[in-house]
Amino acid sequence: MTAWPRFRSSRYNFCVPIGKDSVLYNACSGASIRVAGNDAVDLARLLCGPPRGVPVGGIPRTLVATLRRGGFLIEQTFDELGMIRDRYRSARGRTPMVLTLTTTQDCNLGCYYCYEARSREALDEGDVPAIVGWTRERLAASRKDSLHVDWYGGEPLLNIDFIDVASMALQALCEEIAVSYSASVISNGTCWPDDVAGFVRRHRIRQAQISFDGLKANHDKRRRYRKGRAPDPATSSFEQAVAVVDGLLDVVRVDLRFNADHGNQGDLEGFIGFCRDRGWFDRPFPCIFQLARISDFSERAGFLSHTKLPEEEFERLRERARHLVPDEATLDETTTRSLYPLPRTSVCAALADDSIVVGADGHHYRCGLQVGEKNRPVALRGADDKMTPGRDADWWTAFDPTLQPNCSRCSFLPICWGGCSKKHLEGDSYSLHEQSLYWRKALPQKIAWQFGVALEESAFSFTEADQFRPTSLE
Ligand code: SF4
Ligand code: SF4
Repeated sequence: MTAWPRFRSSRYNFCVPIGKDSVLYNACSGASIRVAGNDAVDLARLLCGPPRGVPVGGIPRTLVATLRRGGFLIEQTFDELGMIRDRYRSARGRTPMVLTLTTTQDCNLGCYYCYEARSREALDEGDVPAIVGWTRERLAASRKDSLHVDWYGGEPLLNIDFIDVASMALQALCEEIAVSYSASVISNGTCWPDDVAGFVRRHRIRQAQISFDGLKANHDKRRRYRKGRAPDPATSSFEQAVAVVDGLLDVVRVDLRFNADHGNQGDLEGFIGFCRDRGWFDRPFPCIFQLARISDFSERAGFLSHTKLPEEEFERLRERARHLVPDEATLDETTTRSLYPLPRTSVCAALADDSIVVGADGHHYRCGLQVGEKNRPVALRGADDKMTPGRDADWWTAFDPTLQPNCSRCSFLPICWGGCSKKHLEGDSYSLHEQSLYWRKALPQKIAWQFGVALEESAFSFTEADQFRPTSLE
Protein backbone atom coordinates (compact mmCIF):
# COMPACT_ATOMS: atom_id res chain seq x y z
CA MET A 1 0.00 0.00 0.00
CA THR A 2 1.38 3.46 -0.93
CA ALA A 3 1.68 5.86 2.00
CA TRP A 4 -0.21 9.13 1.46
CA PRO A 5 2.37 11.98 1.37
CA ARG A 6 2.61 14.03 4.54
CA PHE A 7 2.83 17.32 2.67
CA ARG A 8 0.76 18.98 0.00
CA SER A 9 1.24 22.05 -2.16
CA SER A 10 -0.28 25.33 -1.04
CA ARG A 11 -3.19 26.57 -3.16
CA TYR A 12 -1.55 30.03 -3.01
CA ASN A 13 1.59 29.07 -4.96
CA PHE A 14 2.31 30.86 -8.23
CA CYS A 15 5.08 30.51 -10.80
CA VAL A 16 6.43 33.35 -12.96
CA PRO A 17 8.87 32.48 -15.79
CA ILE A 18 11.85 34.84 -15.88
CA GLY A 19 14.11 34.03 -18.82
CA LYS A 20 15.17 30.40 -18.36
CA ASP A 21 14.42 30.47 -14.63
CA SER A 22 11.20 30.45 -12.68
CA VAL A 23 10.18 32.38 -9.60
CA LEU A 24 7.95 30.59 -7.12
CA TYR A 25 5.80 32.89 -5.03
CA ASN A 26 3.41 32.10 -2.22
CA ALA A 27 0.65 34.66 -1.65
CA CYS A 28 -0.08 33.43 1.85
CA SER A 29 3.43 33.93 3.22
CA GLY A 30 4.77 36.44 0.68
CA ALA A 31 7.85 34.25 0.14
CA SER A 32 9.46 34.01 -3.28
CA ILE A 33 12.38 31.93 -4.55
CA ARG A 34 14.10 31.73 -7.90
CA VAL A 35 14.61 28.22 -9.18
CA ALA A 36 16.81 27.25 -12.11
CA GLY A 37 17.86 24.14 -13.94
CA ASN A 38 16.10 21.24 -15.61
CA ASP A 39 14.14 20.21 -12.56
CA ALA A 40 12.76 23.71 -11.97
CA VAL A 41 9.96 23.35 -14.50
CA ASP A 42 8.84 20.05 -13.00
CA LEU A 43 8.99 21.47 -9.49
CA ALA A 44 6.97 24.53 -10.52
CA ARG A 45 4.39 22.31 -12.19
CA LEU A 46 4.18 20.11 -9.12
CA LEU A 47 3.72 22.99 -6.71
CA CYS A 48 1.69 25.54 -8.66
CA GLY A 49 -1.24 23.64 -10.06
CA PRO A 50 -4.25 22.43 -8.11
CA PRO A 51 -3.30 21.47 -4.51
CA ARG A 52 -1.84 17.97 -4.48
CA GLY A 53 0.06 15.61 -2.22
CA VAL A 54 3.81 16.04 -2.67
CA PRO A 55 6.13 13.08 -1.98
CA VAL A 56 9.25 14.89 -0.82
CA GLY A 57 11.56 11.85 -1.02
CA GLY A 58 13.10 12.92 -4.34
CA ILE A 59 13.57 16.59 -3.40
CA PRO A 60 16.83 17.72 -1.72
CA ARG A 61 16.33 18.22 2.02
CA THR A 62 17.50 21.84 2.00
CA LEU A 63 15.02 22.66 -0.74
CA VAL A 64 12.22 20.91 1.18
CA ALA A 65 13.13 23.04 4.23
CA THR A 66 13.02 26.22 2.11
CA LEU A 67 9.68 25.24 0.60
CA ARG A 68 8.27 24.47 4.04
CA ARG A 69 9.50 27.79 5.48
CA GLY A 70 7.97 29.72 2.57
CA GLY A 71 4.61 27.97 2.91
CA PHE A 72 4.91 26.35 -0.55
CA LEU A 73 4.63 22.95 1.09
CA ILE A 74 2.22 22.53 3.96
CA GLU A 75 1.02 19.74 6.22
CA GLN A 76 -1.86 17.80 4.66
CA THR A 77 -4.26 18.87 7.40
CA PHE A 78 -3.29 22.54 7.56
CA ASP A 79 -6.28 24.89 7.06
CA GLU A 80 -4.89 27.72 4.92
CA LEU A 81 -8.25 29.44 4.44
CA GLY A 82 -8.82 29.36 8.20
CA MET A 83 -5.46 31.04 8.75
CA ILE A 84 -6.34 33.80 6.26
CA ARG A 85 -9.70 34.26 8.01
CA ASP A 86 -7.99 34.66 11.42
CA ARG A 87 -5.55 37.15 9.91
CA TYR A 88 -8.38 39.17 8.34
CA ARG A 89 -10.46 39.25 11.53
CA SER A 90 -7.56 40.34 13.64
CA ALA A 91 -6.66 43.05 11.05
CA ARG A 92 -10.13 44.56 11.38
CA GLY A 93 -9.42 45.17 15.04
CA ARG A 94 -5.80 46.22 14.68
CA THR A 95 -5.99 48.60 11.70
CA PRO A 96 -5.25 52.16 12.88
CA MET A 97 -8.21 54.42 13.54
CA VAL A 98 -9.25 56.81 10.76
CA LEU A 99 -11.89 59.45 11.30
CA THR A 100 -13.13 60.80 7.96
CA LEU A 101 -14.95 64.09 8.32
CA THR A 102 -17.12 65.25 5.42
CA THR A 103 -16.88 68.95 6.15
CA THR A 104 -19.44 69.77 3.46
CA GLN A 105 -21.38 68.15 0.66
CA ASP A 106 -20.96 71.35 -1.35
CA CYS A 107 -18.49 71.82 -4.20
CA ASN A 108 -17.60 74.87 -6.27
CA LEU A 109 -16.83 72.74 -9.36
CA GLY A 110 -19.28 70.78 -11.50
CA CYS A 111 -17.28 67.86 -12.90
CA TYR A 112 -19.33 65.85 -15.39
CA TYR A 113 -18.57 62.56 -13.65
CA CYS A 114 -19.26 63.69 -10.11
CA TYR A 115 -21.63 61.33 -8.35
CA GLU A 116 -21.92 63.39 -5.18
CA ALA A 117 -25.37 64.63 -4.28
CA ARG A 118 -24.24 68.25 -3.97
CA SER A 119 -26.02 70.21 -1.29
CA ARG A 120 -25.16 72.98 1.13
CA GLU A 121 -25.28 70.43 3.97
CA ALA A 122 -22.20 70.95 6.14
CA LEU A 123 -20.79 70.15 9.54
CA ASP A 124 -20.38 73.10 11.88
CA GLU A 125 -18.94 74.08 15.23
CA GLY A 126 -21.99 72.62 16.99
CA ASP A 127 -21.08 69.13 15.70
CA VAL A 128 -17.61 69.18 17.22
CA PRO A 129 -18.47 68.01 20.79
CA ALA A 130 -20.27 64.89 19.48
CA ILE A 131 -17.38 64.08 17.13
CA VAL A 132 -14.79 64.55 19.86
CA GLY A 133 -16.93 62.55 22.31
CA TRP A 134 -17.29 59.63 19.89
CA THR A 135 -13.55 59.69 19.18
CA ARG A 136 -12.65 59.80 22.86
CA GLU A 137 -14.85 56.80 23.63
CA ARG A 138 -13.55 54.79 20.70
CA LEU A 139 -9.91 55.52 21.47
CA ALA A 140 -10.46 54.51 25.09
CA ALA A 141 -12.30 51.29 24.18
CA SER A 142 -9.80 50.22 21.51
CA ARG A 143 -6.69 51.47 23.35
CA LYS A 144 -5.34 52.64 20.00
CA ASP A 145 -2.37 54.96 20.24
CA SER A 146 -2.96 56.98 17.07
CA LEU A 147 -5.71 58.90 15.33
CA HIS A 148 -5.73 59.87 11.66
CA VAL A 149 -8.24 62.45 10.45
CA ASP A 150 -9.14 62.64 6.76
CA TRP A 151 -10.76 65.92 5.63
CA TYR A 152 -13.26 65.01 2.96
CA GLY A 153 -16.14 66.51 0.94
CA GLY A 154 -17.61 67.83 -1.46
CA GLU A 155 -14.68 70.19 -1.43
CA PRO A 156 -13.54 70.09 2.21
CA LEU A 157 -11.80 73.47 2.13
CA LEU A 158 -15.08 75.24 1.39
CA ASN A 159 -15.74 74.72 5.10
CA ILE A 160 -12.42 75.85 6.44
CA ASP A 161 -14.02 77.31 9.58
CA PHE A 162 -15.13 73.83 10.61
CA ILE A 163 -11.68 72.38 9.86
CA ASP A 164 -10.10 75.05 12.07
CA VAL A 165 -12.33 74.29 15.06
CA ALA A 166 -12.58 70.50 14.74
CA SER A 167 -8.88 70.04 14.01
CA MET A 168 -7.85 72.01 17.11
CA ALA A 169 -10.35 70.11 19.29
CA LEU A 170 -9.19 66.70 18.03
CA GLN A 171 -5.53 67.64 18.38
CA ALA A 172 -6.21 68.80 21.96
CA LEU A 173 -7.97 65.49 22.70
CA CYS A 174 -5.00 63.50 21.39
CA GLU A 175 -2.60 65.63 23.39
CA GLU A 176 -4.64 65.08 26.55
CA ILE A 177 -4.76 61.29 26.23
CA ALA A 178 -1.28 60.86 24.73
CA VAL A 179 -2.40 59.61 21.33
CA SER A 180 -0.47 60.57 18.19
CA TYR A 181 -2.34 62.69 15.62
CA SER A 182 -2.06 63.11 11.85
CA ALA A 183 -4.32 64.27 9.03
CA SER A 184 -4.80 64.16 5.28
CA VAL A 185 -7.03 65.98 2.81
CA ILE A 186 -8.64 65.24 -0.54
CA SER A 187 -9.17 68.46 -2.46
CA ASN A 188 -9.74 69.97 -5.90
CA GLY A 189 -7.04 72.58 -5.09
CA THR A 190 -9.14 75.67 -5.83
CA CYS A 191 -9.86 77.28 -2.48
CA TRP A 192 -6.82 76.93 -0.26
CA PRO A 193 -5.72 79.81 1.97
CA ASP A 194 -2.77 81.90 0.72
CA ASP A 195 -0.52 80.50 3.44
CA VAL A 196 -0.66 76.90 2.23
CA ALA A 197 2.34 75.82 4.34
CA GLY A 198 0.91 77.39 7.49
CA PHE A 199 -2.40 75.57 6.97
CA VAL A 200 -0.62 72.24 6.53
CA ARG A 201 1.48 72.72 9.64
CA ARG A 202 -1.38 74.00 11.80
CA HIS A 203 -3.52 71.00 10.94
CA ARG A 204 -0.68 68.48 10.92
CA ILE A 205 -1.53 67.31 7.43
CA ARG A 206 0.90 64.71 6.20
CA GLN A 207 -0.71 63.90 2.84
CA ALA A 208 -2.81 65.88 0.36
CA GLN A 209 -4.51 64.52 -2.74
CA ILE A 210 -5.12 67.01 -5.55
CA SER A 211 -6.97 65.79 -8.64
CA PHE A 212 -6.30 66.71 -12.27
CA ASP A 213 -8.35 65.82 -15.32
CA GLY A 214 -5.58 66.38 -17.88
CA LEU A 215 -3.79 69.45 -19.15
CA LYS A 216 -5.29 72.92 -18.81
CA ALA A 217 -7.80 72.74 -21.70
CA ASN A 218 -9.25 69.40 -20.69
CA HIS A 219 -9.05 70.07 -16.97
CA ASP A 220 -10.81 73.45 -17.16
CA LYS A 221 -13.50 72.02 -19.42
CA ARG A 222 -14.15 69.07 -17.13
CA ARG A 223 -13.53 70.77 -13.79
CA ARG A 224 -15.49 73.89 -14.62
CA TYR A 225 -16.82 76.23 -11.98
CA ARG A 226 -20.47 75.92 -11.17
CA LYS A 227 -22.59 78.92 -12.03
CA GLY A 228 -21.72 81.88 -9.84
CA ARG A 229 -18.92 80.05 -8.01
CA ALA A 230 -15.79 81.23 -9.87
CA PRO A 231 -13.86 84.05 -8.19
CA ASP A 232 -14.02 85.74 -11.61
CA PRO A 233 -15.13 84.39 -14.99
CA ALA A 234 -11.56 83.96 -16.27
CA THR A 235 -10.42 81.82 -13.32
CA SER A 236 -8.88 78.51 -14.36
CA SER A 237 -9.35 75.65 -11.91
CA PHE A 238 -6.19 74.11 -13.43
CA GLU A 239 -4.02 77.14 -12.68
CA GLN A 240 -5.39 77.36 -9.16
CA ALA A 241 -4.64 73.71 -8.43
CA VAL A 242 -1.15 74.09 -9.93
CA ALA A 243 -0.40 77.05 -7.64
CA VAL A 244 -1.54 75.05 -4.60
CA VAL A 245 0.62 72.06 -5.55
CA ASP A 246 3.58 74.46 -6.02
CA GLY A 247 3.10 75.58 -2.43
CA LEU A 248 2.40 72.17 -0.92
CA LEU A 249 5.45 70.28 -2.18
CA ASP A 250 7.78 72.13 0.22
CA VAL A 251 5.92 70.82 3.23
CA VAL A 252 3.91 67.69 2.53
CA ARG A 253 3.47 64.62 0.35
CA VAL A 254 1.08 65.37 -2.52
CA ASP A 255 -0.65 62.64 -4.49
CA LEU A 256 -1.39 64.02 -7.94
CA ARG A 257 -4.39 62.06 -9.06
CA PHE A 258 -4.81 61.99 -12.83
CA ASN A 259 -8.42 60.98 -13.58
CA ALA A 260 -8.39 59.26 -16.96
CA ASP A 261 -11.17 58.48 -19.38
CA HIS A 262 -11.53 58.06 -23.14
CA GLY A 263 -11.43 61.80 -23.76
CA ASN A 264 -8.33 62.83 -21.81
CA GLN A 265 -6.04 59.78 -21.81
CA GLY A 266 -4.04 61.47 -24.59
CA ASP A 267 -2.99 64.14 -22.07
CA LEU A 268 -1.08 61.66 -19.91
CA GLU A 269 2.32 62.20 -21.53
CA GLY A 270 1.93 65.97 -21.64
CA PHE A 271 0.75 66.13 -18.05
CA ILE A 272 3.65 64.09 -16.66
CA GLY A 273 5.98 66.28 -18.77
CA PHE A 274 4.33 69.35 -17.24
CA CYS A 275 4.96 67.97 -13.72
CA ARG A 276 8.58 67.27 -14.63
CA ASP A 277 9.14 70.73 -16.14
CA ARG A 278 7.60 72.30 -13.07
CA GLY A 279 10.12 70.43 -10.90
CA TRP A 280 7.42 68.60 -8.98
CA PHE A 281 9.36 65.33 -8.95
CA ASP A 282 12.43 67.07 -7.45
CA ARG A 283 10.91 69.03 -4.60
CA PRO A 284 11.55 68.46 -0.85
CA PHE A 285 8.48 66.19 -0.99
CA PRO A 286 8.54 64.79 -4.55
CA CYS A 287 5.02 64.50 -5.93
CA ILE A 288 3.50 61.04 -6.12
CA PHE A 289 1.74 60.30 -9.38
CA GLN A 290 -1.50 58.39 -9.12
CA LEU A 291 -3.35 57.19 -12.19
CA ALA A 292 -7.06 56.73 -11.57
CA ARG A 293 -9.90 55.77 -13.82
CA ILE A 294 -13.03 57.89 -14.00
CA SER A 295 -15.38 55.22 -12.89
CA ASP A 296 -18.73 54.35 -11.34
CA PHE A 297 -17.32 54.42 -7.82
CA SER A 298 -20.80 54.66 -6.39
CA GLU A 299 -24.25 53.29 -7.19
CA ARG A 300 -25.18 56.89 -8.04
CA ALA A 301 -22.51 56.96 -10.73
CA GLY A 302 -23.87 54.04 -12.73
CA PHE A 303 -24.16 56.44 -15.67
CA LEU A 304 -20.34 56.23 -16.01
CA SER A 305 -20.19 52.49 -16.52
CA HIS A 306 -20.31 52.95 -20.31
CA THR A 307 -17.73 55.75 -20.53
CA LYS A 308 -14.99 54.36 -18.28
CA LEU A 309 -11.87 52.85 -19.78
CA PRO A 310 -11.99 49.04 -19.84
CA GLU A 311 -9.49 47.32 -17.51
CA GLU A 312 -7.18 46.25 -20.38
CA GLU A 313 -7.02 49.79 -21.81
CA PHE A 314 -6.46 51.25 -18.36
CA GLU A 315 -3.66 48.75 -17.71
CA ARG A 316 -1.94 49.90 -20.92
CA LEU A 317 -2.20 53.49 -19.67
CA ARG A 318 -0.67 52.42 -16.36
CA GLU A 319 2.19 50.83 -18.23
CA ARG A 320 2.66 54.11 -20.12
CA ALA A 321 2.72 56.08 -16.86
CA ARG A 322 5.43 53.77 -15.50
CA HIS A 323 7.64 54.62 -18.48
CA LEU A 324 6.96 58.36 -18.26
CA VAL A 325 7.57 59.17 -14.58
CA PRO A 326 11.22 59.69 -13.61
CA ASP A 327 11.27 56.66 -11.31
CA GLU A 328 8.99 54.04 -9.77
CA ALA A 329 9.28 55.65 -6.34
CA THR A 330 7.15 58.54 -7.58
CA LEU A 331 4.23 56.26 -8.45
CA ASP A 332 1.49 55.53 -5.96
CA GLU A 333 0.93 52.01 -4.68
CA THR A 334 -1.78 51.12 -7.22
CA THR A 335 0.39 52.09 -10.20
CA THR A 336 3.85 50.92 -9.20
CA ARG A 337 5.30 47.48 -9.80
CA SER A 338 7.97 47.98 -7.19
CA LEU A 339 5.79 47.37 -4.16
CA TYR A 340 6.34 43.79 -3.12
CA PRO A 341 3.04 41.85 -2.94
CA LEU A 342 3.00 40.98 0.74
CA PRO A 343 -0.05 39.26 2.20
CA ARG A 344 -2.38 41.85 3.64
CA THR A 345 -2.34 42.68 7.33
CA SER A 346 -4.65 45.69 7.35
CA VAL A 347 -8.07 46.54 5.96
CA CYS A 348 -9.46 49.70 4.35
CA ALA A 349 -11.00 52.24 6.71
CA ALA A 350 -14.51 51.01 5.83
CA LEU A 351 -13.76 47.64 7.42
CA ALA A 352 -11.61 48.82 10.33
CA ASP A 353 -13.57 48.29 13.55
CA ASP A 354 -12.61 51.65 14.99
CA SER A 355 -12.87 53.88 11.92
CA ILE A 356 -15.88 55.85 10.77
CA VAL A 357 -16.96 58.41 8.19
CA VAL A 358 -19.06 61.29 9.47
CA GLY A 359 -21.25 62.64 6.68
CA ALA A 360 -22.06 66.31 6.22
CA ASP A 361 -25.54 65.21 7.35
CA GLY A 362 -24.09 63.99 10.68
CA HIS A 363 -24.88 60.33 9.92
CA HIS A 364 -22.11 57.75 10.20
CA TYR A 365 -21.04 55.74 7.16
CA ARG A 366 -18.47 52.99 6.71
CA CYS A 367 -17.17 54.06 3.29
CA GLY A 368 -16.56 57.66 2.18
CA LEU A 369 -18.02 56.93 -1.25
CA GLN A 370 -21.41 56.27 0.34
CA VAL A 371 -21.74 59.61 2.07
CA GLY A 372 -25.11 61.16 1.33
CA GLU A 373 -26.66 57.89 0.05
CA LYS A 374 -29.84 57.87 2.05
CA ASN A 375 -30.02 54.09 2.56
CA ARG A 376 -26.35 53.59 3.45
CA PRO A 377 -25.59 55.12 6.87
CA VAL A 378 -24.59 52.57 9.50
CA ALA A 379 -25.75 54.96 12.23
CA LEU A 380 -28.35 57.68 11.81
CA ARG A 381 -28.25 60.88 13.80
CA GLY A 382 -31.56 61.71 15.41
CA ALA A 383 -32.88 65.11 16.41
CA ASP A 384 -31.33 64.82 19.89
CA ASP A 385 -27.95 63.76 18.41
CA LYS A 386 -28.68 60.16 19.47
CA MET A 387 -27.37 57.62 16.95
CA THR A 388 -29.52 54.65 15.88
CA PRO A 389 -28.23 51.71 13.79
CA GLY A 390 -28.70 51.90 10.03
CA ARG A 391 -29.83 49.14 7.69
CA ASP A 392 -26.35 48.00 6.61
CA ALA A 393 -24.66 48.09 10.01
CA ASP A 394 -24.77 44.31 10.49
CA TRP A 395 -23.63 43.64 6.92
CA TRP A 396 -20.42 45.61 7.47
CA THR A 397 -19.75 43.90 10.79
CA ALA A 398 -20.20 40.45 9.27
CA PHE A 399 -18.43 40.97 5.92
CA ASP A 400 -15.67 38.42 5.48
CA PRO A 401 -14.07 37.77 2.08
CA THR A 402 -13.06 34.25 3.11
CA LEU A 403 -16.78 33.40 3.17
CA GLN A 404 -17.58 34.92 -0.25
CA PRO A 405 -18.30 32.28 -2.92
CA ASN A 406 -15.60 33.47 -5.37
CA CYS A 407 -13.00 34.95 -3.04
CA SER A 408 -12.94 31.86 -0.82
CA ARG A 409 -11.64 29.78 -3.75
CA CYS A 410 -9.40 32.48 -5.23
CA SER A 411 -5.64 32.13 -4.95
CA PHE A 412 -5.17 35.94 -4.84
CA LEU A 413 -7.19 36.09 -1.62
CA PRO A 414 -4.31 36.69 0.85
CA ILE A 415 -3.12 39.77 -1.08
CA CYS A 416 -6.57 41.00 -2.14
CA TRP A 417 -8.98 40.18 0.68
CA GLY A 418 -11.90 40.58 -1.70
CA GLY A 419 -10.92 44.02 -3.04
CA CYS A 420 -13.48 46.70 -2.32
CA SER A 421 -16.13 45.49 0.12
CA LYS A 422 -18.59 48.15 -1.06
CA LYS A 423 -18.66 46.37 -4.41
CA HIS A 424 -19.71 43.19 -2.61
CA LEU A 425 -22.44 45.08 -0.79
CA GLU A 426 -23.74 46.45 -4.07
CA GLY A 427 -23.43 43.07 -5.83
CA ASP A 428 -21.21 44.70 -8.46
CA SER A 429 -19.88 41.52 -10.05
CA TYR A 430 -18.43 43.42 -13.04
CA SER A 431 -16.06 45.46 -10.84
CA LEU A 432 -15.14 42.38 -8.84
CA HIS A 433 -14.27 40.58 -12.07
CA GLU A 434 -12.05 43.54 -13.01
CA GLN A 435 -10.26 43.06 -9.70
CA SER A 436 -9.41 39.53 -10.82
CA LEU A 437 -8.12 40.82 -14.15
CA TYR A 438 -5.97 43.35 -12.29
CA TRP A 439 -4.25 40.70 -10.17
CA ARG A 440 -3.75 38.31 -13.08
CA LYS A 441 -1.66 40.99 -14.82
CA ALA A 442 -0.22 42.96 -11.92
CA LEU A 443 0.98 40.12 -9.70
CA PRO A 444 3.51 38.63 -12.17
CA GLN A 445 4.89 42.14 -12.78
CA LYS A 446 5.31 42.81 -9.07
CA ILE A 447 6.99 39.46 -8.48
CA ALA A 448 9.35 39.85 -11.47
CA TRP A 449 10.29 43.39 -10.41
CA GLN A 450 11.84 42.01 -7.20
CA PHE A 451 14.18 39.96 -9.34
CA GLY A 452 15.25 42.92 -11.45
CA VAL A 453 12.92 42.22 -14.38
CA ALA A 454 10.48 44.82 -15.73
CA LEU A 455 7.86 42.46 -17.14
CA GLU A 456 5.62 44.10 -19.75
CA GLU A 457 1.92 43.63 -19.09
CA SER A 458 1.56 41.79 -22.41
CA ALA A 459 4.45 39.37 -21.69
CA PHE A 460 2.85 37.11 -19.09
CA SER A 461 -0.28 36.99 -16.99
CA PHE A 462 -1.94 34.43 -14.76
CA THR A 463 -4.98 32.59 -16.02
CA GLU A 464 -8.41 31.89 -14.61
CA ALA A 465 -7.18 28.35 -13.85
CA ASP A 466 -4.26 29.81 -11.84
CA GLN A 467 -6.72 31.94 -9.88
CA PHE A 468 -9.47 29.42 -9.21
CA ARG A 469 -8.20 25.96 -8.39
CA PRO A 470 -10.11 22.95 -7.15
CA THR A 471 -10.43 22.91 -3.38
CA SER A 472 -9.99 19.17 -2.95
CA LEU A 473 -6.65 17.42 -3.44
CA GLU A 474 -5.79 16.03 -6.86
S1 SF4 B 1 -9.27 38.81 -7.02
FE1 SF4 B 1 -11.52 38.83 -7.06
S2 SF4 B 1 -12.16 36.76 -6.38
FE2 SF4 B 1 -10.00 37.09 -5.80
S3 SF4 B 1 -10.05 37.80 -3.67
FE3 SF4 B 1 -9.95 39.60 -5.03
S4 SF4 B 1 -12.10 40.19 -5.37
FE4 SF4 B 1 -12.11 38.10 -4.56
S1 SF4 C 1 -15.12 49.97 0.81
FE1 SF4 C 1 -14.04 50.20 -1.15
S2 SF4 C 1 -14.25 52.36 -1.71
FE2 SF4 C 1 -14.77 52.15 0.45
S3 SF4 C 1 -12.87 52.60 1.57
FE3 SF4 C 1 -12.96 50.39 1.28
S4 SF4 C 1 -11.86 49.96 -0.63
FE4 SF4 C 1 -12.34 52.17 -0.58
